[in-house]
Amino acid sequence: MSPQEPFGNVRAVFFDLDDTLCAYWNAAKAGLRAAFDAEPVPGYELEEALKVWAREFRRYAEELKTSHWYEIYLTEGSTTRAELMRQALEAMGVTDPEHAWRLSEVYGRERDARLELFPEARNVLRALSGTFHLGLITNGPADIQRQEIATLNIGSYFETVLIEGEMGLGKPHAAVFARAEEACRAKGDEVLFVGNSYAHDIAPALRAGWRTVWIRRESDVPPSADTPRREEMPEGATHPDAILETLEPLPRLLGIRSLESV
Ligand SMILES: [Mg+2]
Repeated sequence: MSPQEPFGNVRAVFFDLDDTLCAYWNAAKAGLRAAFDAEPVPGYELEEALKVWAREFRRYAEELKTSHWYEIYLTEGSTTRAELMRQALEAMGVTDPEHAWRLSEVYGRERDARLELFPEARNVLRALSGTFHLGLITNGPADIQRQEIATLNIGSYFETVLIEGEMGLGKPHAAVFARAEEACRAKGDEVLFVGNSYAHDIAPALRAGWRTVWIRRESDVPPSADTPRREEMPEGATHPDAILETLEPLPRLLGIRSLESV
């Protein structure tokens, strides 16, 4: 069985982690609910508190990379997560750093406890490993991303793991993709990137000349979104080589017969 066009030259496959291989947004939403349920904010219903958190998250995320918090964020996720909680509580008229720490702790713990691979992900990784150099390129703090990989028990599938927190820079920076090419000793159309974010995964991979598969799942709406809509491609932007709702068709596109045969 031969690979479908235009994937004929692919020798290395890099995956994004959150909401490509695992249902991170769902886990984050459930974790936030659990946190504000266990540590309620006086005068605020759960839904209202979540809306304030989402608004504060959008503002904080915008400022993070250019603030002094970024260096802390790269190493460990708990300090900036608690700082965001502190600011969200402030926005609700509550000045209580300890309350913020408790909210943040419950959120982090419950999110990790609920984190799961998408049902087809493990079989797809199994099907491709051995034939392709497999890699992971994920943004986020070093400790949180390492914890996710351990929780999901997927580390052994990847020959290359590139984490924003460990590199000091993340997607969509071109240097990240150059580093991945070095690691897998392949480049351009020999490399495929599979990711759920057009802006962070697909656009920079296309700029590097890679093949791209954009994963667009129903669940792909972050808890910080102000509308329940998924990311759209910017007008006039280059199309990915394929758009899939799940990873399931990926082995077939790459010429791997079927999941049952591996
Ligand atoms: Mg992602």
